[in-house]
Amino acid sequence: TNKQFWHSHYPEGIPTSLDLPGVSLYHFLQRSAEKYPVNPAIVFLNQEITYVELKERVDRIATALYDLGIKKGNRIAILLPNCPQLVISYYALLRIGAVGVMVNPMYTERELLYLLKDSGAETIILLEQLKPKVMKVLPQTAITTVISTEIQEYLDLGNDLNQLSKTCLSTEKEAYSFEQLLVKYLPALPEINLNVEKDIALLQYTGGTTGIVKGAMLTHGNLSSNVVQTRYWLDSCREGMERFFCVLPFFHVFAMTTCMNLSVYLASTMILIPRLEAMNLLKQIEFYRPTVFQGVPSLYVAVIANPDVRKYDLSSVRVCLSGGAPLPAEVQQKFEAVTGAKLVEGYGLTEASPVTHCNPVNEKIDGSIGLPIPNTEFKIVDLETGTRELLPGEIGELCIRGPQVMKGYWNMPEETEKVLREGWLYTGDIAWMDEKGFTYIVDRKKDMVISMGYNIYPREVEEVLYEHPKVKEAAVIGIRDRSRGEVLKAFVVIKEGEQAKKDEIIKFCRQQLTQYKVPKKVEFRTELPKSMVGKILRRVLIEEETNREK
Ligand code: AMP
Repeated sequence: TNKQFWHSHYPEGIPTSLDLPGVSLYHFLQRSAEKYPVNPAIVFLNQEITYVELKERVDRIATALYDLGIKKGNRIAILLPNCPQLVISYYALLRIGAVGVMVNPMYTERELLYLLKDSGAETIILLEQLKPKVMKVLPQTAITTVISTEIQEYLDLGNDLNQLSKTCLSTEKEAYSFEQLLVKYLPALPEINLNVEKDIALLQYTGGTTGIVKGAMLTHGNLSSNVVQTRYWLDSCREGMERFFCVLPFFHVFAMTTCMNLSVYLASTMILIPRLEAMNLLKQIEFYRPTVFQGVPSLYVAVIANPDVRKYDLSSVRVCLSGGAPLPAEVQQKFEAVTGAKLVEGYGLTEASPVTHCNPVNEKIDGSIGLPIPNTEFKIVDLETGTRELLPGEIGELCIRGPQVMKGYWNMPEETEKVLREGWLYTGDIAWMDEKGFTYIVDRKKDMVISMGYNIYPREVEEVLYEHPKVKEAAVIGIRDRSRGEVLKAFVVIKEGEQAKKDEIIKFCRQQLTQYKVPKKVEFRTELPKSMVGKILRRVLIEEETNREK
């Protein structure tokens, strides 16, 4: 039997198997700069940067990093919102064979410290305004070099901490200005020998299937393969002609591959939107006239929920790609009706760089994540043993094999063994396929909660709650929310003799966690449901919550 039977359902003109280039992403930049030198690569506020200019800046920063002593394999943390400096730093570190650690700039000190320590990053490139926060944790990390950049538009990110930033840089660390490095260094780089298949390009942090935060080791080959695979799938995207609307943050792998890297590969223009504000999203689309819009479901919900949606000219947008969380069919249909654009759903995970499945633009099935993209195999196995391959229509765990699948988790061999078995990536997602190979995600095996496209691991929030002096026990679950997909609800048992208010608990979480991880609801209980061995049963709380909804 043909194991890859879905190939016969591939849309016409899309190759079932590709010769992957086996290069690093930097080569795509080089190629675009040669072929389309004056195409705008980046539009950011009132700046426009062409492909030659982008490559020149990447080479300058790469030379600077090299000159500062950064060697192949050294880790560089990037703590930037979407901005040209992020794109430049990312391609520069890849050029010299360093390993990137992309960090959410809104992370709290606690979250930041974990990533910096675990990755062992020696260098950090950050937004000047974030320095006060970062400086507090640096003494506990291996960071020796700090490169900062100032972007006026992001001034309020640092809030009142901002005045401190000039004074608090410890003298033990080497501090540089990104802009000064850009001026000081001319491109002068030696060849660096890269083993594209083996050398790590990124440690991309994720909770994965078990909720323990860990760095997925993505190689240069993983990243460049996924860009090429996705490009052939989206065959309606024309080289040198598209404008990508980049509202999703690049530190997350979905936007990194399908916005930033795909745009560079296609010599397209990245329109970087400084802040994600659902209210002026439509205005921005009308103004910048993008042709492709990658989003998470909550962004598409925001578009259709806007009562003025029909007042804007959104006609430039042809293709929209949704991923990261399930896209309700109703949202998909309404969005298409209102905008006239095609909205296709894809699927992926950090461990697969991330794309594994996508709907064919012209033959999509709403509610399905589509077919596996070229050079990607998949199977669905039974949930009990994980070894028996299931038939179409049967529900089990989705497993993936392909050139985009990670090498493993950084310094966590046991975690790696759980998900990489005999060459297959066990996704932890429960799914089924139809006779043609179109795949449907049923639920997550893991306890992960997705709010506005962000992944939240309840355990992390529970750990914070446990730190509250009045909290005895806590459990966190995801509850359904119309606009955000899911939000967190915390169940808290207060210590005897103590009294606490909901606001107090929420405020405490706010100090420790990024906004989207803060529970929206708190319920006080005298006890929590537990198993025989005393483990708190989140599952029971979820059931109670679902019954209450009915
Ligand atoms: P991340 O590693 O942060 O990219 O999260 C990956 C997880 O997001 C997957 O394992 C799925 O649980 C979920 N996910 C991504 N895309 C979809 C989709 N189209 N439908 C349902 N769940 C999705």
